Amino acid sequence: MTDKPKTAVIPSARTAVVTGSANWGLAFPEDVGMAGVRVLERDLAFDTPYGVTENWKLLEFDASLTEEGRTKQVLCMYSHGNPRDYIDHSCHRRAFWVLKEAGVRRILACSMLGAVNKAIQTGDMVINADIIELTQTPYSLLEGRQRFDCSGKQLVCPHCAALLVQTARKHWPASRRIHGVELGLVAAHSYGPRLTSPAEAMAFRSMGADVINHSIAPEATLSREIGACFTPLAFVTAGYNDYMDRSRGQLLQDNVLPGLSMITSRVALETVARFSEDQDCGCHMLKSPRPAENYARF
Ligand SMILES: [Zn+2]
Repeated sequence: MTDKPKTAVIPSARTAVVTGSANWGLAFPEDVGMAGVRVLERDLAFDTPYGVTENWKLLEFDASLTEEGRTKQVLCMYSHGNPRDYIDHSCHRRAFWVLKEAGVRRILACSMLGAVNKAIQTGDMVINADIIELTQTPYSLLEGRQRFDCSGKQLVCPHCAALLVQTARKHWPASRRIHGVELGLVAAHSYGPRLTSPAEAMAFRSMGADVINHSIAPEATLSREIGACFTPLAFVTAGYNDYMDRSRGQLLQDNVLPGLSMITSRVALETVARFSEDQDCGCHMLKSPRPAENYARF
């Protein structure tokens, strides 16, 4: 039996970066070696009403890198809040509770994805505009049943996504494309960890999905529920033919990740550095209070 980890006080931060499969193989952000980005603390664990969440880092960005021209602290969540040693689909609730307590307003999340749209190729970056996950998340963080409406529109921030594309164009390989949020692409969420079957891929495609991602719907939903704005940074490691080819046991093309994990990590850091700490965007209005009589009278 392992000892309960020593937990820390949750620091204040307006911005968070979430690592995932797109960063596998790297210590993020240490291995990127980006000047002006310091790891203030690592291996942080926090208590939440739903249990302990571990493997957090607190980063500091030098004033020279940031939109406001002042030093800023950024919370870094390991692998979408997942524990390192086992699978737990309720982990996002603990992780996003921490982001809420920290006062986080903008979230960038990194992952890999698969494409069921034939025009989207391996190595392409995709910033989807919409999401299909018919349960949204069973692990909601919304306060009270009648107190708020959470819109399902604009689950991905167009403002932050444009900033992400601008940053990515400086680094992404010229031979690969960047599909921006304005294309209106749709990501289907599949919890995993088992990779999607050919039949599931076809089902998602027939529902209107362009890509399939294991790390997108609870993140987007919980961002909305805590009143934050959400942007995914994801690239393709399996294409349509990879899903459909039953003669090959493997799904992912394993030559894609090594080159792009470092580029993705660099783009993630440069993008969150430029996220505004002061300005609201339309996303923050999409969690709206309901009239008091909805919950005061019963
Ligand atoms: Zn936004």
